[in-house]
Amino acid sequence: MKKKEIVVITTSGKCSWGRCIFCPFGWKESRKKSCEELEKEVREKVERVSDAEVLKFFNSGSFLDENQIPKEFRTKMIDIAAETGIREVVVEVLPQHVVMKEKEVVELLNYAKEKGVEVSFAIGLEVADDKIMAKINKPFRTKEFVEASKIIRKFGGRVRAYIMVNLPFVEDQAGMLAKSLLFCKEHADSIAILNTYARPNTELFRLWLEGRWHPLSKKEFEEIVRKALKQTGMKMEDVELYYYDYVCPPRIPKKDRVFLKGVGKEYLVHPYFNVWHDYIVKVYQPPSIKKYALFLPCAYRKPYSKSKTHRAIISRLMRLKDYAKIHQIMISNAGVIPREFENEYPFTSYDWEEWRETEEIQKEYYEVTRERLENYLREKKKRYKVFFAYLKPDSLSYKALMDAAKNVGVRVVDCVDHKLYKKLKDEGRKDVLIHQDLLDEMVRIIEKELKKHE
Ligand code: SF4
Repeated sequence: MKKKEIVVITTSGKCSWGRCIFCPFGWKESRKKSCEELEKEVREKVERVSDAEVLKFFNSGSFLDENQIPKEFRTKMIDIAAETGIREVVVEVLPQHVVMKEKEVVELLNYAKEKGVEVSFAIGLEVADDKIMAKINKPFRTKEFVEASKIIRKFGGRVRAYIMVNLPFVEDQAGMLAKSLLFCKEHADSIAILNTYARPNTELFRLWLEGRWHPLSKKEFEEIVRKALKQTGMKMEDVELYYYDYVCPPRIPKKDRVFLKGVGKEYLVHPYFNVWHDYIVKVYQPPSIKKYALFLPCAYRKPYSKSKTHRAIISRLMRLKDYAKIHQIMISNAGVIPREFENEYPFTSYDWEEWRETEEIQKEYYEVTRERLENYLREKKKRYKVFFAYLKPDSLSYKALMDAAKNVGVRVVDCVDHKLYKKLKDEGRKDVLIHQDLLDEMVRIIEKELKKHE
C-alpha cells in the first residue's frame, strides 16, 4: 500500500545546471529562500496533513546546493519530520553534489539516524544510457550515479531513481526502459517511472513543434512499462508510475504567437494546431460529466460561442434537461476542438479564408480533418455513450466526420434533417443551421437518443 505522503515543491535559487531539454524549471531564476522561509513553507504543508509517513521536498535542482538551499535547513527538515512522526524524507539531489560533499551527506544521514528518520536521495537519472543522457543534456552520466549511490547506501541512505518513458532520440522505448530498470534494480532502492512531457519553453517543446517528438497516451505509456517489466522479470509492484504529473495544455509562449490567417496546408497542419491535436487526442480527458459528444461546425468569429450560429445552437441546446452532459466539439482547419479550449491560442487567432479554397485545398482539408477525427474517435470512443453531429450535410467537415466514423467503426447520430436543410437552402435562406425548425429537430433527435441511455 502506498504510504501517505506530503509533497513540498518549492522554488529557491536556480538549478546549477538548468539545461536538461525537457525541464521547464531548471533555467528559471528565483530568489534563494532563507532557512526560516523554507521552514515556514514545510511546516504549513505538514500541519495540514495528519499521519503522513513520507515528506518529499523538491526544489528543481539539488538539496545539497547551497546556492539553492541553506545548509542549516538540512537538519531543520529532519527536525520537522521527527517532531511530526514522519519516518522518511525524500530530497532531490544531483549525484555530483553527493560525491563532492560526501562528508556533508554523511553528517546529514547520521543526524537523521539519531532522530529516527530515513533519508532518500531522489536522482533524476531519466535513462541509464550515456549516449541518450548526453543528447538530452543531463549534467551527469551513469558512472556518477553509481558513485553517488554507493556513498548514499554505504552510510544508510536510500536512493530513489526517476526514469522517463518516451524520451526523444530513443528508438526502442520498451527496450531502453528495460535497460534503465535493470540498472536501477542494482543501484537504487526505489524506482519512479515518469511519462515524458514537453512543457512550453523547453527544448523538448521545440522538438514537438517540429514533429520530432510526440506525447504518449496513458495506455501507450502503460503498455511500454508492461513490456519493459516483462523483459526484466520485474513486477508492477517494483515501480511507481507517474503519467499525469507533468502534463498540461501546450500553451504557445506569448512571444511566439501570430495570427494564422490564410488557406492551404500551412494553415491546416500548422505546428501550433498539430501539438494541440496531439494533446487533445492523446493526453486530454474530457470532463467526467460529459457523457455525449456533439460535433459542431467552427465559426468565423472567435471564440466560437460569440458567433451568431453558436449563440443560436447553444441557446437551443440549453433547454435540454441533460445539457451539461453534452460535450460540444468543433471541427475546423485548426483541428477537433472541445468547447473548453475555444478561448485558448491558437483557436482564438486564426481565419481560414474559405473563399480562397481550391479543389486541391479542399481535398487536403478533407483528408487532414478525416484523419484527425479518426484519431479522436479511436482514442475516445469508449469515453462517450453517443456521438452526435450537427453539421451542414453538404460540408467537407460532415463528410470527413462520417467517413472517419465508418473507418473507426463508431456510430454518429446525425441531428440534421436533410430534407428540411435542402428545402431551406433551396428557398435561398442564409444561416440554415440556425433556422428554428432545424434546431428543434436537432434537440428532438438528441432527446430521443438520450432517453435510451437514461
Ligand atoms: S532536470 Fe534537474 S538538473 Fe536538469 S535542469 Fe531541471 S532541475 Fe536542473
